[in-house]
Amino acid sequence: LTERLQNAMTKLRRKGKVSEADVKEMMREVRLALLEADVNFKVVKDFVKKVSERAVGSEVLENLNPGQQIIKIVNDELTDLMGGGKEGIEFSPKPPTVIMMVGLQGAGKTTTAGKLANYLREKDHKRPMMVAADIYRPAAIEQLQTLGEQLNIPVFSMGDQVSPIEIAEKGIEQAKNEGRDVVFIDTAGRLQIDETLMAELSEIKAATQPNEIFLVVDAMTGQEAANVAKSFNEQLDITGVVLTKLDGDTRGGAALSIRAVTGKPIKFVGQGEKLDAIDAFYPDRMASRILGMGDMLTLIEKAQQDVDEKKAEEMAEKIRENTFDLNDFIDQMDQVNKMGPLEDIIKMIPGMNNIPGLDQIQVDPKDTARMKAIVLSMTGAERENPDILSQSRRKRIAKGSGRPLVEVNRLIKQFNESKKMMNQMSKGNLSGMDNLFGK
Ligand code: GDP
Ligand code: MG
Repeated sequence: LTERLQNAMTKLRRKGKVSEADVKEMMREVRLALLEADVNFKVVKDFVKKVSERAVGSEVLENLNPGQQIIKIVNDELTDLMGGGKEGIEFSPKPPTVIMMVGLQGAGKTTTAGKLANYLREKDHKRPMMVAADIYRPAAIEQLQTLGEQLNIPVFSMGDQVSPIEIAEKGIEQAKNEGRDVVFIDTAGRLQIDETLMAELSEIKAATQPNEIFLVVDAMTGQEAANVAKSFNEQLDITGVVLTKLDGDTRGGAALSIRAVTGKPIKFVGQGEKLDAIDAFYPDRMASRILGMGDMLTLIEKAQQDVDEKKAEEMAEKIRENTFDLNDFIDQMDQVNKMGPLEDIIKMIPGMNNIPGLDQIQVDPKDTARMKAIVLSMTGAERENPDILSQSRRKRIAKGSGRPLVEVNRLIKQFNESKKMMNQMSKGNLSGMDNLFGK
């Protein structure tokens, strides 16, 4: 299938804007790729519709063909959709932080509780404890106890004759007494969603007021993951998701389904049976995994970088030729914001590499936005030739941009200084680098 997608892509060689036909053709393949990755069909349908609308008429990036451009949009949208939302764990200001693990049987709740407890101890220097509140699955308590011994993390249990609600409550009390600051409540699961189970989980929730309710989902469950996530979320209002068994051969479409259906963030991923096989969730990695086009995406990224490089080269050329104007000044700020260090632009000027401290120059994006507003209030002629900026013009610009006159004056001064400095630099005089942009 990936081959088909590649073929479809190379067929679309034209430049310019993405047409409706391009989108239709590519989206047919994207749809198949998503379904093959086990994304829920309804989620696929909505996603394809939304992205198609966005893609039609979009400008094709230099170095890309329309097909690649569409894939770029698809990848960006996937990443956006799965990202956003709070990362990590919301710790309670009043310890212990209570984390309830829920999910179907075999999803990996118990294992993940152990992995996360260990992870928090290593990363956040927490003192975790685990509570054995699954009294139904045979040997569930022993499993947790063994895990606790392996990790050297205490496990609270009261056997299987006491209600899970009471176990959870007593467990938290015990944690308080022992100065444990994170408590994992390992709950029972069923093979299917089941009302008795949900009622019990709701009761545990009401009794313990957990800070987090993590739904643990087996990534291999594919299409069904969306339904499972939906019911658990409706019943318990979960706070996050842990997707396990991503070390298997699934493309991980469950991640997209779950996020689309519940709106809740995926916080961690399990990638193996070993107790350190847990990671934070990275939406961009997951997006390329779901699309199954790692190579293509690398290529697209590279093309994007080339565009940036080309811009930087143009800029360097202007500096050399002393035709650098206010448009370029603003452009350059955008570049600096995007690329980070000015270094990349400046080192393209011959003899300008290896200047110490170049990477330290930074521009605050808020300042850039203000400066941009000012420049955008200038006429084309003023931007190209700032020398004509008389006092009355400056006043007009201040008014137009809603910025004080002093700021307009400052910007023009900074521009002139930068220009002078760049000129000197391109002639080989490096002094005064720190004053670039007046900082
Ligand atoms: P629970 O019923 O939800 O508590 O699930 P368990 O924690 O008992 O896990 C069920 C099985 O899945 C166990 O054999 C685990 O070792 C295994 N498991 C859990 N997480 C992962 C994972 O990320 N990758 C792999 N390969 N196996 C996992
Ligand atoms: Mg279990």
